[in-house]
Amino acid sequence: MEVFQSHRKSSSNNVIVSILPFYRSAPPLEVRLEDFEFFAMDRLRVLKGISDGLCRGKKPEEMEKLVVDLWKANMRHPQAVEEVNKDIISHFVLRLVYCRTEELRKWFLSMETTLFRHRFRLESSEAQRALMSEFKLPYKAVSNAEFESVKDKLGQVARSMGQNLPAADAIFYKVPFEEVPDLVSGRRVFIHKGHAYVAMNQVVSLVVTQFRSYISKALILTNRKWTSTIREQEKDRLTPIVEALCTSYLGPDYSQPQEFGEISIKDIDQVAKTSFPLCMRHLFEKVKEDHHLKHGGRMQLGLFLKGVGLKLDDALAFWKAEFAPKVSAERFDKEYAYNIRHNYGREGKRTDYTPYSCQKIISVTPGIGDHHGCPYRHFSEENLRAALVRMGVSSRAVEDVMDKVHNRHYQLACTLTFEAVHGSSCDAGINHPNQYFIDSQRVLQSKNGSVA
Ligand code: SF4
Repeated sequence: MEVFQSHRKSSSNNVIVSILPFYRSAPPLEVRLEDFEFFAMDRLRVLKGISDGLCRGKKPEEMEKLVVDLWKANMRHPQAVEEVNKDIISHFVLRLVYCRTEELRKWFLSMETTLFRHRFRLESSEAQRALMSEFKLPYKAVSNAEFESVKDKLGQVARSMGQNLPAADAIFYKVPFEEVPDLVSGRRVFIHKGHAYVAMNQVVSLVVTQFRSYISKALILTNRKWTSTIREQEKDRLTPIVEALCTSYLGPDYSQPQEFGEISIKDIDQVAKTSFPLCMRHLFEKVKEDHHLKHGGRMQLGLFLKGVGLKLDDALAFWKAEFAPKVSAERFDKEYAYNIRHNYGREGKRTDYTPYSCQKIISVTPGIGDHHGCPYRHFSEENLRAALVRMGVSSRAVEDVMDKVHNRHYQLACTLTFEAVHGSSCDAGINHPNQYFIDSQRVLQSKNGSVA
């Protein structure tokens, strides 16, 4: 297997260099187990950022900037060769992670293709040509004689798109028209006898089609290898990492209260109204109404409250008071207090348990009588609409939120709710209920000069 090395033009030896690989084969490198996981998580941050950008309907120019920023933040390394290695290793690890179901393959293929498209566009035309020849794409530039014979037609197409006429030294590729479907459907290419004449600045479409089809086939092959051998062979080492990666939470740890410090019991009612995301508002309202919550709800709300800064003594007092109409003090101490202390790391293995991320909450399946989970995923449409109206979301914004819900973009639906309720944008999107809380407190603080 081979690592594709740089191809950008070096002034000393006139070699064209690019750092964009085609991921034809896994690198022959020894990879440390922690790099295997960390590199993949960094790439996942890039792909998830792209996914959020697409779901939010960002324009191509905005996507280009987003891709550059995400890549810079997560994948850059001062040494080009290390960056190339990380790029390739992380791609192959995620290929294993995302080859395992049709849905995962579809998502990965779409995000990797978008990433590749933007990275290719950012290459100079020299490097793009070098990449095309390195990838052995079977396309030849149109000869001068042929260019002269179709120059007028190419000019007509350029004019119809408001572009300048092709210069005498312009490079065009002649390709079967079915290989550039987006150019054909957009009438952005001259077609003659089954061939499309693709200008150098449109070549990205050609390369992306090849890339997509190659990765799509590779994912199927990887899936076969995964199910026939790798999963079993690696069951004690790589398999657990691979299986956990596609649902891993990539954001900050909210197990300790962050910038807004402690929340005391007397503030809870107020902050629940202003700064709790819908999942936690719902649990909070339910515990007040029913004076009880089942285990899943107590865990989801209890760990969230710990993350927002409710101290152990206050947490015990809060749950005890809320349960009091149904649960005697003695029974509470016997049956419930242990679990609360456990969540704060004061019992059992003394692990400090982490508040649940959106991904974890969205992926649960609440049973009858449970109130935990994510309302955007688990509520009926009618209940969700009513809950949004109670939060003060305008009817127009409710429609936007429901549109995201119908497309199963639950975190984006929550982000739009945040934006509608706070009148402030949330570009990073909502990934964690405690992030919702902190962002909300920040906005309220900047509006009022004080929190809560
Ligand atoms: Fe809670 Fe996250 Fe669902 Fe929002 S998206 S309601 S924060 S689980």
